Amino acid sequence: MSAELRVEGLRRGFGGAVVLDGIDLTVPAGGCVALLGPSGTGKSTVLRLVAGLDTPDAGRVTAGGRDLSGLAPERRGTALVGQRPRLFPHLSVLDNVAFPLAVAGRRRGAARAEAAGHLDLVGLGDLARRRPATLSGGQEQRVALARALAANPAVLLLDEPFSALDPGVRAEMHRLLADLRSAVSPTVLLVTHDRQEAAALADTVAVLLDGRIAQHDAVEALHTRPASLAVHRFLGGLV
Ligand code: ADP
Ligand code: MG
Repeated sequence: MSAELRVEGLRRGFGGAVVLDGIDLTVPAGGCVALLGPSGTGKSTVLRLVAGLDTPDAGRVTAGGRDLSGLAPERRGTALVGQRPRLFPHLSVLDNVAFPLAVAGRRRGAARAEAAGHLDLVGLGDLARRRPATLSGGQEQRVALARALAANPAVLLLDEPFSALDPGVRAEMHRLLADLRSAVSPTVLLVTHDRQEAAALADTVAVLLDGRIAQHDAVEALHTRPASLAVHRFLGGLV
């Protein structure tokens, strides 16, 4: 399942400071757009607004043409995975993944069977009974991805999901995400600091500067035809 994600005129300020000053961004159904920008520019805020964890001052978010304004997070068809997975320490890996299904009203047995399928999808079928504390960082992040996918989201929101991992594990996760995209093809909005990651995983890159999308283009075009000096400077300084 996937749906076109549209963000239109999104505004959000905190205590008088404007953080998002009218964000327009479209991610085609089944596509992957990387959202790139300096620290503190509001990338996480964009994802939180799309996920319904925060409310915009103005603007709207639609998925597959459906206006998500006012809908609770679990009713939006979105799932968010952050930098550090927040797994429930007292639940097994399997029950962590089954949790959103149980919340959605699935019976325990059915939820677990479905969750087992999602664990297989991220290559962790063997670790179903383990507790999160016994997992490596990469494994925990795989569980978080399985849990996000268990809700069968039309839109998957990833907030620097691999930045805390070692480079080798990160490369594994990149392969996993590519595989997941071909297996379940959700629409993906990926926040990252990592230009290589953006180039490897995303179809296009949107650069967030000073509260607006300064340019949304293919990676190549951002470098050869930056829309402004600010975009050029930002990409030049990016490691
Ligand atoms: P990024 O993810 O790009 O690093 P964030 O979206 O986390 O940036 O934050 C953007 C700005 O908004 C920062 O200045 C941050 O301090 C501020 N901010 C984010 N959330 C809140 C909040 N709940 N209350 C007050 N300020 C916030
Ligand atoms: Mg952030």
